[in-house]
Amino acid sequence: MSNAVQHIVIVGGGTAGWLSACLLAARLPDQRITLVEAPDVPTIGVGEGTWPTMRETLATIGIPEAEFLRECDAAFKQGSRFDGWRDGSPGDSYLHPFSAPPAAEMRDMAQAWQASGQPGAFAAAITPQHAVCAANLAPRQRAMPDYAGALNYGYHLDAGKFAALLMRHGTQRLGVTRIAAHVTGINRAANGDIAALVLRGSEPLAGDLFLDCSGQAAILIAGQCGAEWINRSDISFNDRALAVQVPVEPGSPIAAQTIGTAHEAGWLWDIGLPTRRGVGCVYASRFLTDERAEDILRSYIAANVPGADVSKLIPRKLAFATGHRDRFWIGNCIAVGLSAGFIEPLEASAIVLIELSLKALAENFPQSRASMDIHAARFNDLFRYRWDRIVEFLKLHYVPSQRTEPYWQAQRAPETIPPRLAECLALWREQSPSAWDFPRVDEMFPAASQQYVLHGMGVPVPLSGKSSSSPARLAEIAAKSRALAAALPTARDYLDRLTAQAAATRIPA
Ligand SMILES: Cc1cc2nc3c(=O)[nH]c(=O)nc-3n(C[C@H](O)[C@H](O)[C@H](O)COP(=O)(O)OP(=O)(O)OC[C@H]3O[C@@H](n4cnc5c(N)ncnc54)[C@H](O)[C@@H]3O)c2cc1C
Repeated sequence: MSNAVQHIVIVGGGTAGWLSACLLAARLPDQRITLVEAPDVPTIGVGEGTWPTMRETLATIGIPEAEFLRECDAAFKQGSRFDGWRDGSPGDSYLHPFSAPPAAEMRDMAQAWQASGQPGAFAAAITPQHAVCAANLAPRQRAMPDYAGALNYGYHLDAGKFAALLMRHGTQRLGVTRIAAHVTGINRAANGDIAALVLRGSEPLAGDLFLDCSGQAAILIAGQCGAEWINRSDISFNDRALAVQVPVEPGSPIAAQTIGTAHEAGWLWDIGLPTRRGVGCVYASRFLTDERAEDILRSYIAANVPGADVSKLIPRKLAFATGHRDRFWIGNCIAVGLSAGFIEPLEASAIVLIELSLKALAENFPQSRASMDIHAARFNDLFRYRWDRIVEFLKLHYVPSQRTEPYWQAQRAPETIPPRLAECLALWREQSPSAWDFPRVDEMFPAASQQYVLHGMGVPVPLSGKSSSSPARLAEIAAKSRALAAALPTARDYLDRLTAQAAATRIPA
């Protein structure tokens, strides 16, 4: 085949670069894969919450689950809890769990829950995951096969350790070649494609398909291929984060979900790992100074992390632009990861977008240059759709809030609400969210996710029709919650035993 694609070159060795290298090497064994990373440009070093998709990703790459958990100081994530988002009053908290009833049952169960008059606990009524999270339990037992669970789950992990594990696995077991070098430019082919990367101190590196995983620098897709930036900060205001790692006391409980706590001009994330918690303050620089953000972060840690010495913590400041490219695939270059865009860390939509980009690429891989423009057009259409839905779903977390600070008032100003979300909110006054609103294959935030947030935020979603079977289903779920609570180990117990077992079987040097 003329112009056959045989060599994939990846620029960047963060989560996006190494996930790309490992997944493509596993899925496309005939391709040669080279990854170039600049030794003098650090990775962003955050991104510690994944989606359940990560289980399939790791299984495909061929990393055993216990190895992943141990090497990445990882824990289980079963959803996100939102504290203080509705109005900040005591008890203002809801869960967006990863497990949901089948789509066909969701509307009926919501009706049954509303009819039952149980206050405030939609997720508790319709999935046992609520009870399992409340008790800090693991979603699986150790005897289960790798990546199987009693409930749907993803992970919390140490981003630096994750990239290091993927690098070892990619280079030692999957045949990926790693080059430590700074990319300073490109050599262009006659048709405008990238022919080769120009490297500082090395020969140019030729390839057939180039993945830009260079993070916010976006050196290929923006720097060389001319993709435009679509700014979404008029909708999504947060553009700063202060991040810190706080050691935890041995034996302390490990939370089963990301905890997102609203504050006066943004929110705090709290991610529990076996040896530390990753805590961060996300905020909008337009509404909050860095100094005030640091005060909020320190007060949160002092109040919520037992034994933390707040005076010793030095937070890292991160600034991020809010938006995405107008195109993600141009010529023979594809942006994956932060180079494609970023909309604040809420709901952890970035790593899953990396996985979805790689899935779309691997399952529609251009065998030659001849088909590439067709693939590119389809890829761009799909990912524009996905970015739009992400922007809308994240905004949905803010719009129903009754908090009174200027930031929260601005979040619900009509001119900041994207038209399609405004349209959905108007529809959802008369009918609950359904697959009609989210009709594509692999929707990132299906109707169930929208319902969790709407009910959690106390938005009245109308009752329509009568449901006869659902009260019995609610009773079944209550019984299953009790059974799982009795059968599952705590996350702490599960992960400590894993570490102890590894220590016991290690051969002394
Ligand atoms: C505050 C914050 C919190 C986040 N939390 C989450 C979360 O919980 N869940 C989630 O899914 N996502 C989260 N994200 C996003 C997540 O961190 C990223 O999607 C993920 O880490 C991927 O980053 P990356 O690999 O694209 O970029 P980076 O990690 O920045 O890596 C870029 C790579 O490119 C290389 N590079 C750059 N320039 C050159 C050059 N000229 N030559 C050669 N190499 C070069 C660098 O050396 C580096 O290896 C968060 C982001 C932020 C800002």
